[in-house]
Order: sequence, then C-alpha cells, then structure tokens
Amino acid sequence: MARYVFITGGVVSSLGKGLASAALGALLQARGFSVRLRKLDPYLNVDPGTMSPFEHGEVFVTDDGAETDLDLGHYERFTGVACRKTDSVSSGRIYSNVLEKERRGEYLGKTIQVIPHVTNEIKDWIAVGDDEVDFMLCEIGGTVGDIEGLPFFEAIRQFAQERPRGQCIFMHLTLLPYLAASGELKTKPTQHSVKELRSIGLQPDVLVCRSEHPIPDKERAKIALFCNVRPDSVIPAYDLKSIYEAPLAYHRVGLDQAVLDAFGISPAPKPDMARWEDVMDRLTHAEGEVRVAIVGKYVQLEDAYKSIAEALTHGGMANRVKVKAEWIDAEIFEHEDPGPHLERFNAILVPGGFGERGTEGKIRAAQYAREKGIPYLGICLGMQMAVIEAARNLAGVTNAGSEEFDHEAGGKRFTPVVYHLKEWVQGNHRVERKVTDDKGGTMRLGAYSAVLREGSKVAEVYGATDIEERHRHRYEVDIKYREKLETCGLEFTGMSPDGRLPEIVEVKDHPWFIGVQFHPELKSKPFAPHPLFAGFVKAAKEQSRLV
Ligand code: GLN
Repeated sequence: MARYVFITGGVVSSLGKGLASAALGALLQARGFSVRLRKLDPYLNVDPGTMSPFEHGEVFVTDDGAETDLDLGHYERFTGVACRKTDSVSSGRIYSNVLEKERRGEYLGKTIQVIPHVTNEIKDWIAVGDDEVDFMLCEIGGTVGDIEGLPFFEAIRQFAQERPRGQCIFMHLTLLPYLAASGELKTKPTQHSVKELRSIGLQPDVLVCRSEHPIPDKERAKIALFCNVRPDSVIPAYDLKSIYEAPLAYHRVGLDQAVLDAFGISPAPKPDMARWEDVMDRLTHAEGEVRVAIVGKYVQLEDAYKSIAEALTHGGMANRVKVKAEWIDAEIFEHEDPGPHLERFNAILVPGGFGERGTEGKIRAAQYAREKGIPYLGICLGMQMAVIEAARNLAGVTNAGSEEFDHEAGGKRFTPVVYHLKEWVQGNHRVERKVTDDKGGTMRLGAYSAVLREGSKVAEVYGATDIEERHRHRYEVDIKYREKLETCGLEFTGMSPDGRLPEIVEVKDHPWFIGVQFHPELKSKPFAPHPLFAGFVKAAKEQSRLV
C-alpha cells in the first residue's frame, strides 16, 4: 500500500504547486523510493483536450492517450515516470462517471449526493495503482476555498481517515507577501489559508511558503505556532532562475526530510543527488548560445508550448549551449518576407497547431529553412506544412493543402496532400472516426510505433530504427504523394509499422530538416534530452559556427 502526500495550495493561484510536487517526487526517488504523481483538477471540463491553449496552456498527452494538464509534463520531466490516464482527473470526469453510473442504475435507487457518491468516485481514482509504488503524490488543482474544489478536499480528508494512521500526509503551499513600505513579510494570508483548510478537517503536516525574501526564523516560528505545524516543517520556497534547480533547492531547505519526518520514516535513506547536480552543471556551464525561432500561432502564452520550450532547453543541455528561443507569429509571413525576420536565427521550429490561421506563414517559414539550409524541426502541423511546402514548390502540386482547412472553410480549395484519417490500427484493434464526431477525443492520441529507414538522418539521430512516440492529431500526410515527393528530395524516412501512415519526413541534401507527425517534446527530460531536440540544437550550434 502506497503512502500518500496530498498537495494543496492557498492564498493565490500559480504558486508553483505542480513544480513543488514534481520536485518532491524527484527527491523521494533520489532516496530510493518509487513514486507516482497525480493531478486532481476541480474544473468541470471532462478533460483539458478542448480547452484553449491560450487559456489553459499546453495539452499534455500520455502514452495511453489521455489529454491532460501541463502539470503532468512537469511530473514526467522531473521523475521520468510515464503518466497514465488515471493520473489526471477533473470534476467534469468525476461527475460524468457518477451520472453514467446513475443512468445504468448502479446506485440501486439511492439519492445521488456529493457525499458519498462524488467523494467515493474521487477516492476510487486516488486509490488506483496503490500497490505499485512507495509514494503517491496527489496534487489538488486550484486553491483552498474554491467552490469546485470542495468535494476533492472532502474526499482526501475521508481517504486519509480510512487509511491506517501515518499513511497520508498533507502538504500546503502558500505565499508570504512582502510589504515594501514596512519591509516586512506578512504571514496573515498563510494563517487564514491554513484556517480555511482546518475548517474542512485538513491539518497540513508540511507548509511550503513561497517568498521573494528570506524568511527570518522569527517569522517561521510564528507561522509554525499559528498554523499548528512543526517549525522545521515550515519550508521556504524562494524564486529560482531555472525550474530544474527545484529539486536541489527544496532539498537544501529540507522539504524531503520534513515529508519523511511527517511519515515517521527514520532513519531516512541517504539521498543521491548526482542526477540533479549534473543537470544543474549542464545548465549553468553552457558555452555559447544558439537562437531558435519558433514560428507558431499561440505565441502570446508561453505555456501553450511548454514542453517544446523545455525540450529545447534539454537539447541545449545535451550540447552545453544555451538555447534562446523566440516566438514569432506565423501570420506575419503572410504579408511579409520571412528573410528579414528569420535570418538572425540558427534554427527554425514550427510546432503543432490546429486550424488554418497562420498556416500559410508556417509554409513560408518551412520554405525559407529548406532553401537557405537552416536547421528545421517541424512538429505535427509543422511536419504537415513542410510536406505541403515541398508539394507546392518542388513537386508541382501547386494548390496542395490540408483537408483541415477545407473542413473549416467548407468547399474544396486545396488538393488534400494532408487528409482526414478515418480509420487506423491501434495495437490489435481498428479505430474509426468521422469528421462530425465530437471535438473531444476524436484524434489519433497517445503512443504509436514507427519504423525508421536504415541510413536516414533520423535513424542516425535516434541511434535506432524502432521508436515509439506520442501523437495528437486528426490529419495525416497522404502516402500517395510519397513517390513524387521522394523524387524531389523529401524522403519519407519514418512510417507506421503497417507502412500506411507517414511518421517522419526529411529533406535530402540539407544540413538538418526533419518533420515528425508526433510530439517528441513530450518525452524529453533534463536528464535524458530527446534525441531529436539534442540533434536539432547540435545542428543549430553547427550553423552558428560555434564548433
Ligand atoms: N491540426 C493538425 C491535425 O489535426 C495537427 C495537429 C497538431 O499539430 N497537434 O492533424
């Protein structure tokens, strides 16, 4: 049976709860324990798949095809443990399960209520996979006091009560605001937040206090006294230059020790921090810098491409260079020449995206990279645009386009070099989809294998010919253009195992031009940079003549 750490937040949102959870996971691993991290989100969407990246940031996809919150990306990047469908749940999912059960008559004529029916459903989620790990870390989204959050707080209270004593602890994150006028850190909001928690039956064992200023011992003792927490379980969390400092920084201030103490695990196994020391060494001792242009649509909110930004950093770490990524709105290239905007970059990345807006600009960016010999990495839509570019400008399919744009606008404006996939094979079964299916959950989602061509650039980059990567898309490059495109120098060097779906294209006689139908960024870790990102940054480094 796993031990549980429930992580909640108070005072304000965006305190870095996900990061603190992920760092705690890494620290428990460093002490030899196995962990799994889980996110319980109070919003009413069934999953974040249909939420705008502008509003909610990136949708993180798991191997088993769940569309989840970007915090799961942090969990994976810090622990290397692949998240599953069951590691992310929202109120929407919980209520929809309860209502389905009610319709099926599973509650035997009972009146359905938040307690116990909704809370039982939440507890069942929390307990999934309980016997597989030493520690289960469950983060509750939002802040204490949110209306939607209440059933979750009640469920974790019950859960801890039903488990043997000492099996569950509560960790709460708060903020200590600094009043410049009086030069003081204020503890009152933290006191109130803990009071709110205690009023619903939850006593925090560990309190993590975000602060821009050092927390004097006196204030720490005061927080401990008023919040009923031991002084050495009041953990300061200061701002960091890089998120990857978090494991070492939290270790220095005693977070892992406080957690183990709360469980009464003594003596605590010694930590081995070598992995994180190496990560920090690579990050802080970069020699030189490369500039990468990310030509995309959701440029206003960096979180919309969170995993790409992180994977580029990892690629930099693999090559000991700093990667300076700049986000460029693809739409600019629809009326302006890309040259003046892109010439100062050492590499160009076109990320995934949905809808027609900005696509002509992405096509021009791909053309610029191909013609000028600039390293190019096209991800998902970025691969499709590279194929359309080659079809139009090399293979003579002058009005090549994607069915996605015709579906949006109605009518037939393009020759569909990229078409809507209606059925495919996943493992041993067939999946069928219609254009008119619901927007949520109609994509080719999750891990699929690909077979790489021996001797290709991409096989060299991976050092392998059988790979598995995560997908999230509806449209596919049409295999019927393969021969035509290959003759013009755009090679299909990665295919689905049945040979029907193009997974990777690359431009022959180009320093580094690769398009992939999947999302490699989702699997990159600071301690294991993804080969495509390591290779791409290496090519950028060569382009910048740093070597
Ligand atoms: N919109 C494209 C599709 O659905 C690409 C999706 C993506 O980039 N993730 O196929």
